[in-house]
Amino acid sequence: EVPVITLDGPSGVGKGTVSLRLAQQLGWHTLDSGALYRALALAAVRHSISLQDEVALAQLAIYLDVHFKATPALETTQVFLETQEVSAQLRTETCGAMASQLAILPAVRQSLLERQRTFRQLPGLVAEGRDMGTVVFNDALLKIFLTASGEERAQRRYKQLKEKGIDAKLDSLITEIAERDNRDMTRTLAPLQVATDAQVIDTTDLSIEQVVACILQQVSK
Ligand code: C5P
Repeated sequence: EVPVITLDGPSGVGKGTVSLRLAQQLGWHTLDSGALYRALALAAVRHSISLQDEVALAQLAIYLDVHFKATPALETTQVFLETQEVSAQLRTETCGAMASQLAILPAVRQSLLERQRTFRQLPGLVAEGRDMGTVVFNDALLKIFLTASGEERAQRRYKQLKEKGIDAKLDSLITEIAERDNRDMTRTLAPLQVATDAQVIDTTDLSIEQVVACILQQVSK
């Protein structure tokens, strides 16, 4: 079996950065599952599909023309939707909020399930999201759940958006992120929760290097 490390947790906890660094160190592939939900939201807007139309969204998810291109040196992954580069558009909190609305729909999650599993390729995969350890890669080699205080996460997300030149306000980010986390934790199917066999790391007072080192230590055990 191809080894998988899952990283789950709420928004702004650092999953993206940690996952890219881990993959780089191990020479493994990455899956940013949130980007699939975000790309689907963007595609829905483009094709004028309502975020409540479960049947149409599930169909769109199956045929979604989305590609990832890793640029490890820059610690980013570019996302292409219908051949157009959409990485910056996907990062906005507006897009994140839309993604979390369609992520509630069972048929949509089902449609994205197989696609996510195709990322599992040798020599290994680091998969990040909300249900990587609980649903998609239930048999993962190592399951990590990252946490950090709500304020810390909003600050991190704010800094990240600013660095990428994306407009954001800290106050509204705090409320928007709390709203999205709440939606992700309370949905019926695949809610954000700690897998029974996951290790929880509170990253509030840890640097990215420390989090990565901590996880690599678990891998080598
Ligand atoms: O991780 P990111 O913030 O990009 O995810 C955007 C949204 O997509 C999340 O708030 C969540 O609603 C949804 N999502 C999900 N399951 C995943 C990854 C993301 O439901 N595995």
